[in-house]
This record gives sequence, C-alpha cells and structure tokens, in this order.
Amino acid sequence: MLKLLRSSTAIGLRLQQQTTQQLKCRNIACLSALPDTYQMLQKTCRDFADAELVPNAATFDRERLYPEEQIKKMGELGVMAVAVPEEYGGPGLDYLAYAIAMEEISRGSASAGVIMGVNNLYLGAVLNFGTEEQKKKYIPPYTTGEQIACFQLSEPGNGSDAGAASTTAVKKGDHYVLNGTKAWITNAYQAGIAVVFASTDKSLKNKGITAFLVPMDTEGISRGKKEDKMGMRGSSTSQVIFEDVLVPKENILGGLGSGFKIAMKSLDGGRVGIAGQGLGIAQASLELAVDYSQKRIAFGKPISKLQAIQQKIADMALRIEASRLLAWRAAWLKDNDKPYTKEAAMAKLSATEAATFCSHQCIQVLGGMGYVSDMPAERYYRDARVTEIYEGTSEIQRLVIAGQILKEYAA
Ligand SMILES: Cc1cc2nc3c(=O)[nH]c(=O)nc-3n(C[C@H](O)[C@H](O)[C@H](O)COP(=O)(O)OP(=O)(O)OC[C@H]3O[C@@H](n4cnc5c(N)ncnc54)[C@H](O)[C@@H]3O)c2cc1C
Repeated sequence: MLKLLRSSTAIGLRLQQQTTQQLKCRNIACLSALPDTYQMLQKTCRDFADAELVPNAATFDRERLYPEEQIKKMGELGVMAVAVPEEYGGPGLDYLAYAIAMEEISRGSASAGVIMGVNNLYLGAVLNFGTEEQKKKYIPPYTTGEQIACFQLSEPGNGSDAGAASTTAVKKGDHYVLNGTKAWITNAYQAGIAVVFASTDKSLKNKGITAFLVPMDTEGISRGKKEDKMGMRGSSTSQVIFEDVLVPKENILGGLGSGFKIAMKSLDGGRVGIAGQGLGIAQASLELAVDYSQKRIAFGKPISKLQAIQQKIADMALRIEASRLLAWRAAWLKDNDKPYTKEAAMAKLSATEAATFCSHQCIQVLGGMGYVSDMPAERYYRDARVTEIYEGTSEIQRLVIAGQILKEYAA
C-alpha cells in the first residue's frame, strides 16, 4: 500500500495546491501543509487503526496478547519498514512518514506501535551499517510483518549506561562466542532476528562494543520469563540469555568496535519514532477527553462549558501541537542528512512528556470513568509511562540536549 503512495509522490506534488478536502484531518491542523503523500499516509494509517486497532487494543492489553494478525496487516501496509527502500522490500518512504505512521498506529494501540518501532529500529541499523550482502539477507524477511526483529542493547546491570555492556563476544576461529544476559528486550518472544551489542574488548569500554546479527533460533539462546508490565502489554518484553552462542564473523554489523556508535545513531532515529508514539497516545487522550466532556452533563450543562475543563483541553492541545512540530523537524533534518541528535532528543522528550501529561489530564476530565478499564484512559496512562523510559530516559534526553547546546555555544 505505501509503495503505491510512494509511486504517486510526483503526482501528489503536482496536486499539492488542490489538496482534496476529504484528506484534511481535523485533528492534525499542520498536516495540510505537507505534500499529499504524507496526508494520504496519515489517512491510510488512521483508517487502519480505527478499523483494526482501536476495537482490539483493550483485548491486547488485558490478555497480554501479541497482535499477530494486525502486525501482518501492518506489514502489508508497509509500516513495519517505513524507511526501507523498495529494493529491500520496504515502501521507500522517509522518517517524516515514519513519525506520522507511528503516531497513527500508536493512537490505535501503543503496543502495536512499540512492536513496529522496534522492528523499524532494527531495520534502520542494518540499512545504515550493513554490507550489501547483509542488507539483502537480513532486511527483506522483516519488512512484511510475517517475521519481526528485536534490538538488544540493555542488560540487567546497565540501561542508560549502555557503554558498560557485560555481554561478551570472544573470537574463536571464524566465529565469536557470545555469553551474557540482555534485559528488557521488546519483541523477544516473537523475534526471528536480533541485533545484539556485546563487548569484544572490555579494556576499550565503549569502543570495544561490537554489534552482531544473530538469528534468535541459534543454539544457546534462551528467553527469560515475560515481564509483567504496567503497560504496552500486547508486546512481549523479556531477558535474553546467551550461553556459548556461536555467531559467524560475517555477522558483525558495521565493523569490530563500532557497536556503540551504531547503537547511538540508531537510537537517534528511533527517538523520532518514539516521539511519534508519544504523540499518538497524547492525541488519543485529547480526543477522548474532548468527546467525553461534550457529553457529560454536570450542574446542568456539558462539562466542556466549564473553564476548568477548557484549560485542560487547551494545555493538552498545546503540548501535542508543539511536540508534533518538534518530531517533524527532527525527521526532516534526518531525511535531509543534517545533524539531528539534539532535535530527536527534544522531540522524544517533549512528546513522551506530553503523552504522560495528556493521559493524566484525560483521566481527570473523565473523573471516575477515567479510573476504570471500561474506558481506555487508564490504559493510555499506563502505556504512556514507559515512553519516558525506553530508548533513553527523560533524564538522558536532557543530558543529550544540554551536551549538544554546550558544544554549540563553545564552538
Ligand atoms: C517495556 C520496556 C521495553 C524496553 N525495550 C528495550 C529493547 O527492546 N531493547 C533494549 O535494549 N532495551 C529496552 N528497554 C530498556 C530501556 O531502554 C532501559 O530501561 C532504559 O534505557 C533505562 O535503563 P535502566 O532501566 O537500566 O535504568 P537506569 O539506567 O538504571 O536509570 C535509573 C534512573 O537513573 C537515571 N539516570 C541514569 N543515568 C543517569 C545520568 N547519567 N544522569 C541522570 N540520570 C540518570 C535514569 O534516568 C533513571 O531515572 C526497555 C525497557 C522497558 C521498560
């Protein structure tokens, strides 16, 4: 589907001045400033989310159910591999498209959003750092939603301090032998392939970390128990244990000792996606709060007439619009090969804090109904919380932003 969108880009640009009324979305005012391709993408993803994700999201959450059927359909849509070129099986779109798609999918189901986000994170790493042979072998199977991938950086002893990897990879002939435990791995239970970060030389610290492409059915790999999470319950998260796992040296991604650089560069792109995810949760919270406030009568009139409620709606909308522009700017910079580390961190920080804020306010607008699972507000709140933790905590985003600004001012 997204391939069709891409091939219509030229026509889309010509038609830009005559953007069709039905493509305008009342919820995303600034979208109408973008070329038709992005508007069509947004509408396609929103229609899909409304039909396939919104009605099932509570079940995925309650039953901790991996949304297998929906992920396959997302593969058909092209969103499991948004920025992957057509020659490797993707729709060949860009990170702006990725941010928009992540928002719409996460608005429907944040669990589906994180499964998609991690798959795209893996694909970004292989696309940017893989050899031609690796790209041909390790990208196409993970673009369709039939098989998915994972990204294994964190460990029980180190999350934010990613350079302190204790998983080791020791050379033995034409292979490396991996030993250690990775933690918090999203998609661990379903993934067919992983990019695994391990230390090939501890004395070099960050510079001794190497990335490996490892099929998850390799002998010696086992999974820990599924984590019992507060939110994102439709996605699996667990430890992955490596015991004398043999990986051929051809599976090194990007060269010996390049792992830390690969992880950081990949996470810059990943943060654009998580910003999109935060926006989706925030937008869903706003839409629910507005709808409910117009229907709920208190003191003889809808609560939307109360200034106290209007202030909340204004504060939610303000944070969403500002975060969306930050996310799109970071995506645009990446798509145009400009530095964007600071902007990606700002987008992720702003949008994920907006998700927490908006889902909190949504519960407040709904009163008691916000606190029970009959309504999705409490799920939005639980799902939002982790967006401020994974792919770099809010504290780490602030460190990244300040570090970049201090560098700019010192220059
Ligand atoms: C549901 C879920 C899914 C995840 N999926 C994945 C995945 O697929 N792959 C993967 O590799 N990881 C994944 N993670 C791990 C996630 O990226 C880490 O949890 C995160 O980076 C934080 O690391 P930590 O939990 O070890 O916390 P810590 O690093 O121990 O941090 C604890 C607290 O200290 C603060 N802190 C730490 N260092 C600093 C500092 N220098 N300055 C200021 N404050 C600091 C943190 O901000 C935080 O508040 C996932 C986590 C969760 C919860």
